[in-house]
Amino acid sequence: MTASILITGSSRGIGRAIALRLARDGFDIVLHCRQRREAADAVAERITAMGRSARVLCFDVADRQAARQAIEADIEAHGAYYGVVCNAGITADGAFPALSDEDWDSVIHTNLDGFYNVVKPLVMPMVRRRAPGRIVVMSSVSGLMGNRGQVNYSAAKAGLIGAVKALAVELAKRRITVNCVAPGLIDTDMTDDLVTEEALRMIPMRRTGSGEEVAATVSFLCSGDAGYITRQVIAVNGGMC
Ligand code: NDP
Repeated sequence: MTASILITGSSRGIGRAIALRLARDGFDIVLHCRQRREAADAVAERITAMGRSARVLCFDVADRQAARQAIEADIEAHGAYYGVVCNAGITADGAFPALSDEDWDSVIHTNLDGFYNVVKPLVMPMVRRRAPGRIVVMSSVSGLMGNRGQVNYSAAKAGLIGAVKALAVELAKRRITVNCVAPGLIDTDMTDDLVTEEALRMIPMRRTGSGEEVAATVSFLCSGDAGYITRQVIAVNGGMC
């Protein structure tokens, strides 16, 4: 049976690029979205045309019950995953005094709780496979440096780095690696309003990155060649930090 990888938030943007790349690498893909089901179905069609299997799960990663139910049912039907890429995320930017309770809660619940809600139901089945496995978590340059206007997002993305480092130690003997990828400014819907002259001046390479460039790093971390890399944060950011 081919190894399958769940990629959260793979209906568009970086997650979509990761799904297509991992399918090209030979994995079966479990796509996931919150509400853009048609977009996720279109990605699934492309993957199927590549000769790989793809299915779509739809749930809000901030909803613990929904995440658990969907993942448990999928594992019950198709078996435990080889890997997961926790990629779903949102921003709700604003200067700290202007942040609303909703801005704080939604960003923490989606980005940080979302990791817990997704990884918790799938990790023991992964361990029971008694085979190598991969957990890759999307952090951000914002979690490494702290970005103005992103106190909520920086907190969530830095929190993910701590969670990954701790979980990596717990799973090391099981041959399951746990790593973060920390992208800089990547061209997606999320950054539509953020790509300005001023932002580009902060990037030594003076350009945004592409989803495919992030996907290439995720692909390496998911490969057999990366079996001795765990507890790390790999930045993909044109030299920002
Ligand atoms: P996009 O906004 O383009 O896509 C976000 C994806 O996450 C979509 O598939 C969306 O599903 C899904 N999603 C969002 N919220 C939820 C939720 N509550 N439950 C389930 N799914 C959800 O984002 P990007 O591709 O730009 O970002 C992907 C990841 O990379 C995020 O974690 C982001 O923080 C991180 N990142 C991005 C950077 C960038 O410059 N773009 C830089 C650094 C990190 P749907 O389509 O159904 O809404």
